[in-house]
Amino acid sequence: MYDLSSRIAATDSSGKKLGTNIAIVGGSVIGLATALKAAAAGFTVTVYDPSLAWAEAAGWCAGGMLGGITEAWPGEDEQLRLGAASLRHWPGFGGKLEANHPGIFTSNVGTINVGVDDGDVQDLNRVYEYVTNNEHLWDRGGTIDGAEPFLAPGSNDPKDSRMRKLTRRELRALEPALSRAARGALLTEGERSVDNRELLVALKEQCENTYGVTLVEREIEDLNHLVDGTVGTYDQVVLAAGNGSQDLAATVGLNLPIRPIKGEVLRLRFRPGVPEPPRHTIRGRVHGRPCYLVPRPWGLLIGATEYEHGDDREVTVQGVLHLLQDTEVLFPGVTEYELREIIAGLRPGSIDNLPYLGRVEEALDGRLVIATGHGRNGILHTPLSAVAAVAALVGTELPEAKSCDPHRIPDFIM
Ligand SMILES: Cc1cc2nc3c(=O)[nH]c(=O)nc-3n(C[C@H](O)[C@H](O)[C@H](O)COP(=O)(O)OP(=O)(O)OC[C@H]3O[C@@H](n4cnc5c(N)ncnc54)[C@H](O)[C@@H]3O)c2cc1C
Repeated sequence: MYDLSSRIAATDSSGKKLGTNIAIVGGSVIGLATALKAAAAGFTVTVYDPSLAWAEAAGWCAGGMLGGITEAWPGEDEQLRLGAASLRHWPGFGGKLEANHPGIFTSNVGTINVGVDDGDVQDLNRVYEYVTNNEHLWDRGGTIDGAEPFLAPGSNDPKDSRMRKLTRRELRALEPALSRAARGALLTEGERSVDNRELLVALKEQCENTYGVTLVEREIEDLNHLVDGTVGTYDQVVLAAGNGSQDLAATVGLNLPIRPIKGEVLRLRFRPGVPEPPRHTIRGRVHGRPCYLVPRPWGLLIGATEYEHGDDREVTVQGVLHLLQDTEVLFPGVTEYELREIIAGLRPGSIDNLPYLGRVEEALDGRLVIATGHGRNGILHTPLSAVAAVAALVGTELPEAKSCDPHRIPDFIM
């Protein structure tokens, strides 16, 4: 267990002890999880966000897959290492939230990657070779917070959760409602998904009711305002504002590149008499296009398109058409579902698909901690990022987050 409770001893660059009254800018998954962990460690915490109903937050829009293993792509070693490490934080973190707020974990049985044509199956094979040849990067042995790791059903050995190829017959037995179009499939047992909206609600509730965190609906325009008295005189500041982080970092002389990566998502409600949704999270490749189906108690979440257009949250006909066409190829029963919601959001992307996590001595008189830039995997990275941010607040580093130091950014200090 990473014990923070007796280590509130951070010092600024001149060796002066930093205090424990902190402000967090951004009240979505990363900001609220950091608030919860910091308050539990003894900090007095205030969170600022213009919408604590998450109107602009990627965290409200997301799919909620904890794709620590199945997001892997050949060559992205650090991303796989961090994703797998993040998975190890989830059982303890999610388990504690679930105790008061059941319904956060949605699919517990694992993820199935499926491919439809030769090119899709080749992509699956590349992922399979990469993941199975690099077990040292993702071995999920050990526990965090004293909780059991995610396990394959019926197994006590984390190694049984490894990725394996499925025959067509095995795929049909596991997910009979999937179409016969799938020509290749991989199963990663133990990789879960969560309901990101339930997660946000649970985090907010626990912050307010259990840990006495102050939540303020207010936009912060300049990080200096949190230390110079304009908004407050906080001892330390955590920047966790997703796509708002780049502009805020510039107010304290930092170049923190964030690429907004648009994604469209559909929410479809199950109706009596229609085919049951899959039990596993299904990550499809359909003629080269990615498409995922994430089970929810009320039906299915379908995602997600990916474009880099800047600050564009409009839902396009083409995006929805592609998602529905590709889903129908994988799961024909989808046409009988109720189309409940269509939404677009912006993933806050970094320069290299790793988040920015750590203290920045050079800004705000050494009082700034950054926790942002989580791109496609911010839900997966939530518990690890919160622990890393609190480690920075107490003047230490979380070894698992070493590769996320924002100082890797070229020309970071302007
Ligand atoms: C379509 C889509 C699908 C996704 N699917 C997944 C998935 O399956 N699995 C996964 O792990 N991740 C997924 N993600 C990514 C994940 O949602 C993000 O990485 C994560 O939400 C980042 O969290 P965050 O708290 O840093 O930012 P956000 O959730 O974007 O929140 C940022 C918050 O900062 C606030 N803010 C901004 N500017 C200011 C300011 N000036 N002052 C105060 N507050 C401010 C905003 O109001 C907002 O509430 C998906 C994202 C999208 C868009």
